[in-house]
Amino acid sequence: MVFRKSIYKTPAQLRQMVAPGRATAASLSAVADAVAAGVTTIELDGIAEAAIEALGARSNFTLEAGYHHTICASVNDEVVHGIPGSRILQPGDILSVDSGAIQGGWNGDAARTFVLPDPARPEVVAERQRLSDVTEASLWHGIARLTTARHLNEVGEAIEDYIQSQGEYGILTDYIGHGIGRRMHEEPPVFNYRVRAKGPEVKPGLVVAIEPMVVLGDQDTYVKDDGWTVATEDGSAAAHWEHSVAVHAGGIWVLTAEDGGAAGLAPFGITPAPIA
Ligand code: MG
Repeated sequence: MVFRKSIYKTPAQLRQMVAPGRATAASLSAVADAVAAGVTTIELDGIAEAAIEALGARSNFTLEAGYHHTICASVNDEVVHGIPGSRILQPGDILSVDSGAIQGGWNGDAARTFVLPDPARPEVVAERQRLSDVTEASLWHGIARLTTARHLNEVGEAIEDYIQSQGEYGILTDYIGHGIGRRMHEEPPVFNYRVRAKGPEVKPGLVVAIEPMVVLGDQDTYVKDDGWTVATEDGSAAAHWEHSVAVHAGGIWVLTAEDGGAAGLAPFGITPAPIA
């Protein structure tokens, strides 16, 4: 694959990506503290926006043409790109929240999934929590593979292999991860499954948003009438986890994790290295 401009960032550019990554992480931590039955998704949007602005950053989702919110909030059969609004979260809902920040002209992008407790439907909650856990763990398998991969397609292999080892899940193929930098969505594509093309070399300067989207049923999706919300054709529940990750001379650093990825990478015996 030949790119007109280098996809690799310089050490100085990587340093500039730390702040927007932190602001993105802070917005999702603030959302995590607020998620509960009875809360509306637009309330979560305001909480995320305030957390980003408190760190001197700005929402980058609001810079996307035609999109006017800080987060995407996708509930149950919605996989990604759900628009925050008056929808009230219910016990047992599975909610994915995607957020991003721009600071100094550089972007961060991340997502987390939450399952709300429901004492009346413990089996539904358990199935959805396991879906979220498998998706999150698949993300960390993909991130961990960056430390040994020669080419980017190995990340997708790691994600797919892990998910398939955990049971019958659908991995979305309509939407994938991406490079990130001065723009939120850049080259190269980051697949969550095996592809034949090796993709670019994994080496210092590569920054990618890895974002597995996994469903309990079939992976086919459609876009709802609002023109944004992506939902499963069969109505099955979906989970989405995402981090922006930098490969640098000292190792890897998960820009959108408050601990740089230390907790998520510990099971792999990997210690993330701060960008010097
Ligand atoms: Mg993304």
